[in-house]
Amino acid sequence: MQFHILTLFPEMVENGLKTSILGRAVDRGLIGVHAVNIRDYTADRHGRVDDYPYGGGAGMLMQAQPVYDAFCALQEQSAKKAPLQEQGAKKAPLRVIYLTPQGRVFDQKMAEELAKEEELVFLCGHYEGIDERVLEEIVTDQVSIGDYVLTGGELPAMVMIDAISRMVPGVLKNEESGETESFRGDLLEYPQYTRPEVWRDKAVPAVLLSGDHAKVEKWRLEQSIDRTRQRRPDLYERYDLPGRALDYLKQERLLHRDMIEDIRRRQAQVLAVLSDGVLLQDKRTGIYMVTARNRDAGERLLSMTDPDGAVFCCHQKFLMQSVADRFHKTRINECFQTVYTKKTPLPEEKTDICRIFPLGEGDLDLVCEHYHTLADRETLAGLLREGSIFAASVCEEGKAQIAGFIGTHAEGGMGLLEVFPPFRRRKIGQALVSFLINRTLEKGWTPYGQIFTDNEPSLKLQEKLGMRLCPGTLYWIS
Ligand code: SAM
Repeated sequence: MQFHILTLFPEMVENGLKTSILGRAVDRGLIGVHAVNIRDYTADRHGRVDDYPYGGGAGMLMQAQPVYDAFCALQEQSAKKAPLQEQGAKKAPLRVIYLTPQGRVFDQKMAEELAKEEELVFLCGHYEGIDERVLEEIVTDQVSIGDYVLTGGELPAMVMIDAISRMVPGVLKNEESGETESFRGDLLEYPQYTRPEVWRDKAVPAVLLSGDHAKVEKWRLEQSIDRTRQRRPDLYERYDLPGRALDYLKQERLLHRDMIEDIRRRQAQVLAVLSDGVLLQDKRTGIYMVTARNRDAGERLLSMTDPDGAVFCCHQKFLMQSVADRFHKTRINECFQTVYTKKTPLPEEKTDICRIFPLGEGDLDLVCEHYHTLADRETLAGLLREGSIFAASVCEEGKAQIAGFIGTHAEGGMGLLEVFPPFRRRKIGQALVSFLINRTLEKGWTPYGQIFTDNEPSLKLQEKLGMRLCPGTLYWIS
């Protein structure tokens, strides 16, 4: 990988980068460090490269001309060095990084991304910076190394080149050492110890001497998590959000079954995990699912949502009230949540009084005619397209007739149950619910449903089939 540095102080960069691990990488031809002195390209007879800023103000500015000419010379050299097939075709433009406190802040992820390039140009400013016009002309990325102001871009360029070079295969002797360091997976590295075993009465943690590899790994992960939580709460916020959300939600499994399932079925974007609440958004429908232990946490979570046109599923009444007050939402549905907590499917005879089969898009009118509670025509069409709605048909006077249907809502709950009036009290509903429970179990998921609090027949049916009723209610608000 080739690094070019446009600078007024080439010796500073070259001396700094050609020592130790990077020096060895240069010697082995794994990276190249090429500093270009901008001053060599000035058109000024006295070798000046800076001037006063128009409009007044403190300090001097680097002029556009020497920077531009130095870059053009570099571009020409780079084109000549390109392999023959690239010289004929148009060579990809060089990626030029201007080091500036006004840029995107450099981090490990950016280092990994930049390490994929074959060639990078770093433009180092000095004094008060560089004439804006040349920046507009040649710069592709503006990068800062942190929220403070340095005297020049040389140290930031060296910092970036060091971090990027470590990602270049072969630069680190042991490829692994780059794998386990801080910032991989948003965790800081665990504490490390070397000989002697005891130093100033401080012993190395016993687990590291145990020879038990699995135990060592477990201890290291725990240390990393603890350290990150204490030292870098900002990083910890991002670490394993789904895992931490599940830890919280499982404290009340029945109440949170819909949220747990949304995560387990990989449909959830976990937006926040607090010590007293969780917010997630179902990726397919955009529905926000939120739970909190107190109003304060609830308010914090709700402030992270985009309420415009959004639907919320609140797991506490005070949350529903906050959504209504804050976002002026008025359509509220109160539901019981029921969960099939057993692992065993329901017996076949519960389903064999009718034939059950998936409905298709051609059945949209039939479904819309009978179901108008929660889903609109478009949503129902989507569910039919993916085979999520099932009909029960019975044989009447030698003719098969559809007697009702059931389905799985896009966010995962069982619902849409309708048994047409002439077929009621014939256990068709029972057959449909049993069928869907078994089908959900087959996928390795936990069946759950949400039932309007005034829908007693449905509630009774689900309880009869062994579904557990969650204490408390959920509130859908839109
Ligand atoms: N007047 C500029 C401003 O306020 O944005 C600051 C100029 S600074 C004194 C001089 C040069 O140092 C900049 O042009 C830039 O190349 C470099 N520099 C200073 N702080 C930096 C940082 N945090 N990250 C990257 N480059 C920095």
